[in-house]
Amino acid sequence: FARRLLSARHKPCVTADNVPVALKANVELPAEAILAVDHGAQGIGLYRTEFLYIDRTTQPGEDEQYEVYRAIVEAVSPQPVTLRTFDIGGDKFASTFQLPAEMNPALGLRAVRLALKQPEVFLTQLRAMVRASAHGDVRIMVPMVASVHEMREVRRLLSQAIEQVKARGQAFEEHIPLGMMIEVPAAAVMADVFAREAEFFSLGTNDLVQYALAIDRASQSLAAQASPFDPAILRLIKFVTDTGANHKRAVSLCGAMASDPLAACLLVGLGLRELSMEAAAIPEIKEAIRRLTVEEAEAIALRALACDSADAVEELLARELAPRL
Ligand code: PEP
Ligand code: MG
Repeated sequence: FARRLLSARHKPCVTADNVPVALKANVELPAEAILAVDHGAQGIGLYRTEFLYIDRTTQPGEDEQYEVYRAIVEAVSPQPVTLRTFDIGGDKFASTFQLPAEMNPALGLRAVRLALKQPEVFLTQLRAMVRASAHGDVRIMVPMVASVHEMREVRRLLSQAIEQVKARGQAFEEHIPLGMMIEVPAAAVMADVFAREAEFFSLGTNDLVQYALAIDRASQSLAAQASPFDPAILRLIKFVTDTGANHKRAVSLCGAMASDPLAACLLVGLGLRELSMEAAAIPEIKEAIRRLTVEEAEAIALRALACDSADAVEELLARELAPRL
């Protein structure tokens, strides 16, 4: 079975009626980029840069970051790499940042909110990313965006970072797409407005589930209720994919649900044409997607959207979809 999956790694990822679905990899460590290509990833859909800031006493400098980003970009080039700006805070700690003690850190100073409070640290990261763009197809993605003001501020700082790199005479690509994670419900319901601010969207269902269902993503006692199959989540996803299509914005999904074969087929039915996941899951997800037509996936998705609970959705998928995979 494993051999069959591995031999499928360079088959195209298309539905049974030949509609392409891009499968990319989520990467945390630079070494994983090679693994991703090995598993047939069509690029890196999410590079979590947090690891650069974790388990150390000083902040990573611009050159150090640039070397890491460049290595990743070169490892997957000409495939694209989406570099996510640091998502520190909440469940992701970094002792080099002086984070305030908050009652609810997941609802506190985190990710883009922290970046905008520490513009010099953020500019250092942005300059390193801008310089990496000279070596391949680089896109920059912002985590935890909740308001248009944040995207405008990030864009202003990105322009500043580009000016600084240019002034030094260093190489970079003129147009670096700037996109955002949709992982806060406010951003999902405002997707039409955000389409004016962001060049692409990536749904972060790990946090979207946490914030939409008000269940801590680390909670053991409520883990069973924190389901990405909750129809509330599926409706948010559908709204974002429809809105992205209407406004010509690519929509990807990089939460853990993308690596579940049943969920992946459902997501195709909800309109997604790009998924990003841990590299090891790519062969199996590709096999699953190749078994269904878009029309079949859409029919299941429509029924899932009309369900009244996550349990009902899971029963539907187990009954109608699982026997097909
Ligand atoms: C998410 O929230 O779904 C996501 C992909 O980001 P992270 O898990 O790093 O918060
Ligand atoms: Mg997240």
